[in-house]
Amino acid sequence: MASITENYTRIEERIQQACSRGQRPRDDVRLMAVTKRQPPGAIANAAAMGLRLFGENRVQEALAKRDQFPPDAEIHLIGHLQRNKARDAASFFAAVQSLDAVRTVEELERRLAALDRTIPVLIEVNTSGEDSKQGVRSREDLRAVTESIMAAPHLQLNGLMTIGPISSDERVLRPAFASLREMRELLRRETGLPLDELSMGMSNDLEAAILEGSTMIRVGTALFGERRE
Ligand SMILES: *Cc1c(COP(=O)(O)O)cnc(C)c1O
Repeated sequence: MASITENYTRIEERIQQACSRGQRPRDDVRLMAVTKRQPPGAIANAAAMGLRLFGENRVQEALAKRDQFPPDAEIHLIGHLQRNKARDAASFFAAVQSLDAVRTVEELERRLAALDRTIPVLIEVNTSGEDSKQGVRSREDLRAVTESIMAAPHLQLNGLMTIGPISSDERVLRPAFASLREMRELLRRETGLPLDELSMGMSNDLEAAILEGSTMIRVGTALFGERRE
């Protein structure tokens, strides 16, 4: 617990430094605690420090841990959503950040409609070109997924999400994050939606993401330590 408190203090310092470097108010950037594959106490410790925004990347794992989250937690799905998990995702998550396929959008919409529930969503974009990563890879795919969400009355499109390239070099990271922001500008013009959310930046690259306009950073290992495999 002591070390998690120290980690949190350190992350908060990093966020504040990046915000002042980018001349942005601290309140522009939300911190999400990514609790995937962390030991049972992690969620309680984060909650004790006042964190309420949580990220999980697997539907089944999140459901198995549901009782550990505080009652007022806001839990987002940040990992790939398989269509056969859409029903559970529709009932459990406050938001889904990782939509990248029309068929999944349609299935999620169907399940949300049945529950009479509307949630905010983000489209995941592959800005790094790395094959191991999910996310839409082309303008055409981005457009198709955008259109499918706009046609889905129970999904509210709030913006975009990405995972940065594997690098510690700001000259590599910043253009990738900037490209997400530019795609957002393009989509804004095309859709007329505000699309305020840019979910980007993790333990190792949150500064570069904040400098390029991130509104939400998703931090796991820098807060809780290494994950279990
Ligand atoms: C695991 C994960 C994170 C957190 O990564 P860290 O490097 O541990 O901070 C953030 N976003 C997504 C989508 C993830 O899967």
